[in-house]
Amino acid sequence: MLVTSAQLFLSYNQHEWHPIDFMLCCAMLLGTGTWAMTERHRHRLEFQRRRARWICINCGYDLRATPDRCPECGHARAPAPGASNA
Ligand SMILES: [Zn+2]
Repeated sequence: MLVTSAQLFLSYNQHEWHPIDFMLCCAMLLGTGTWAMTERHRHRLEFQRRRARWICINCGYDLRATPDRCPECGHARAPAPGASNA
């Protein structure tokens, strides 16, 4: 069953929604937002872990022998936090 947003809007204006419908929509939006923020945080932690352990951020290759660029995928190593490019 395909319901367009216009149909949803009209049905909401005509008070055809039960409060539980509205609560379910809010719960789904909140759940999706929480999941997205958790994923973003998890990716950031993985980025920091790999950079600190001299592992390529892109492919996981050991970069201790070639610290500037990954020989496996060619990805340039991210600068250390606080490092200046000047
Ligand atoms: Zn790599």
